[in-house]
Amino acid sequence: MEKIISILGSTGSIGTQSLTVCKKMGYRVKAITAHSNWKLMEEQIRQFNPEKAVLTDMEAAQKLKEAVSDTATTVLSGMDGVLEVASDPQQDTVINALMGVAGLKPTVCAIEAGNNVALANKETLVAGGKLVTELVKKKGVLLTPIDSEHSAIFQCLQGNESKSVKRLIITASGGPFYGKTRSELAGIKKEQALKHPNWSMGAKITIDSSTLMNKGLEFIEAMWLFSMPPEKIDVVVHPQSIIHSMVEYVDGSVMAQMGAPDMMIPIQYALTWPHRYESPAKHLDLLSCGDLTFKKPDTETFTCLADCIEAAKRGGLYPCVLNGANEEAVSLFLQDKIGYLDLFDAVRQALDHFDLGDYNSVEEVLEADRKAREFVRETFTR
Ligand code: NDP
Ligand code: MG
Repeated sequence: MEKIISILGSTGSIGTQSLTVCKKMGYRVKAITAHSNWKLMEEQIRQFNPEKAVLTDMEAAQKLKEAVSDTATTVLSGMDGVLEVASDPQQDTVINALMGVAGLKPTVCAIEAGNNVALANKETLVAGGKLVTELVKKKGVLLTPIDSEHSAIFQCLQGNESKSVKRLIITASGGPFYGKTRSELAGIKKEQALKHPNWSMGAKITIDSSTLMNKGLEFIEAMWLFSMPPEKIDVVVHPQSIIHSMVEYVDGSVMAQMGAPDMMIPIQYALTWPHRYESPAKHLDLLSCGDLTFKKPDTETFTCLADCIEAAKRGGLYPCVLNGANEEAVSLFLQDKIGYLDLFDAVRQALDHFDLGDYNSVEEVLEADRKAREFVRETFTR
């Protein structure tokens, strides 16, 4: 089936895999955006001939413009360019594979223009889930999950009534430091935290996976995507990452979605739902994947998960602030400006520091995000 797609964050881990899926499916890639990686974007332009390519970094955009002046692609710069791409109504689906809350406005613009959104950018739902899901309903567009756990839940819900769902069970690999105590985590360097046992991903989500913050963000993402209260969502550690998540029904049946840990599967399903096609992804070999095991997450050491659940229960701007504090803390950790344990403390202290209400606009969300980042910078760097 012919489809027209734009990819926000085309040079990232999800973005590059999305291009592979589009190529295999024969979809037309209308526009691509990234931050500064103009060299990779030049290659992507030559391969996919998009109408537009955007870099938010001005200098990089200028370099790209010169590099591709022999092509028909128009190069734009800045966040305005990203919003222009997201708002183009002449397309089927916008894939949002941006990193962080920077993805919120583009998601909103895409939906407002009547586009379907295939969403990898979980921070969008964590920070502004209420606005996004209301807008999806109002505009009657599709919001399909790319995050593997949410794709799994989405797949396990097919053909069943949502009123018969007892609970969602999100699986977590546990990350590279599962089993460690808080004191053992103290000296962890970014090189260690950047090694994920099962998935190859961008730096921010890899750090989040090591602290279990990623699982906390996914908990909140699941609440919005599937209209579930926090009481009906559980997290279980499953180190092999073969079962990507489960849905338990009132009759005791548990549906699980399994597969090789390969993001190409959820990316493709987010674009082809309700249909399935051959995929370039690896296939699961049950006889070589070993024993499947399940354990309780250690939320006393990996406090980010418990803090996310608390923020989810408090509601309003709390998840946004917690996400903003984490984004800032991860960025500082990646620059060697704070220690590993500060990642946990930044999230907890942001939750304790702010007294927050509800929100009704993107601006309010972004303002709360800004304050959370400022709080973390002021508290943790001197
Ligand atoms: P990457 O860091 O690999 O890629 C991020 C992309 O967004 C790059 O194209 C980058 O451009 C661009 N970008 C980053 N910051 C900005 C900004 N401020 N403005 C505009 N563009 C920006 O991330 P991932 O692909 O790993 O993750 C993307 C999203 O998907 C995240 O929300 C993550 O949580 C989610 N996700 C990722 C999974 C994975 O397997 N990687 C799995 C499930 C969810 P440039 O390259 O030029 O910097
Ligand atoms: Mg995930």
